[in-house]
Amino acid sequence: MPSSPGSSAFTVTPLPAFNDNYIWLLARGHEAAVVDPGDAAPVRRALDRLNLRLTAILVTHHHGDHVGGVLDLKSRTGATVVGPAGEDIEGLDRRLRGGEHVDVLDTRFEVIDVPGHTAGHIAYFAARHTPPLLFCGDTLFACGCGRLFEGTARQMVASLDALAVLPASTLVHCAHEYTLSNIRFALTVEPGNAALRERAARDEAARHRGEPTVPSTLGLELATNPFLRCDVPDVQASVTGRTVDAVDRTAIFAALREKKNNFR
Ligand SMILES: [Zn+2]
Repeated sequence: MPSSPGSSAFTVTPLPAFNDNYIWLLARGHEAAVVDPGDAAPVRRALDRLNLRLTAILVTHHHGDHVGGVLDLKSRTGATVVGPAGEDIEGLDRRLRGGEHVDVLDTRFEVIDVPGHTAGHIAYFAARHTPPLLFCGDTLFACGCGRLFEGTARQMVASLDALAVLPASTLVHCAHEYTLSNIRFALTVEPGNAALRERAARDEAARHRGEPTVPSTLGLELATNPFLRCDVPDVQASVTGRTVDAVDRTAIFAALREKKNNFR
């Protein structure tokens, strides 16, 4: 069947891996792609079960729980592997930088540089898919964000800013099921945020049913994720103890990230 780039639909399914990772499986007809296959086994099982041929592997950053299955899957399927130009990852066929794009399953994915969690972390954004799709690895989580292992708070704020301007309808596909813990922290930051309280009830119910809480939408993240809300007075007051006039968003972000690192 003929297809035109941008209009072709594919299904997106989370494959649980390890304790709380999601490997995203994209399928269109009998062709498939995966994002961040930290483990080959769940991908191979899904390909067999659904009779899919893997043609592309997209990687967001170099951590083992995102790349551990790449070489196995590549050698078995011959899939093309794309990933960040700025990181040392075995098996990459194409090294991508922000501003470049890659076509997967007849859909164009724009590459966005999002350093902070790691120094060369990239995200993939399918602007012309309906709705738009974002695969952001360990940068933006549902109601949270990744830890700063290699980058600075300033870099992470710039990275989150680059994602925050995408359409509100964008489906945000992160790589971990950390949502309930993130929401518990967010509620300590903004206990009066009605959208956040609604989200808490909805996502707790989803987990009770054994369902993933992701993808979320960017609009929901903007309304509930404290790390995207460093310019909101309640968020500022939660880390400074007062509402501040001249807002240093980076300082607010850094204080919030530090608070979350110590949150149990
Ligand atoms: Zn990571």
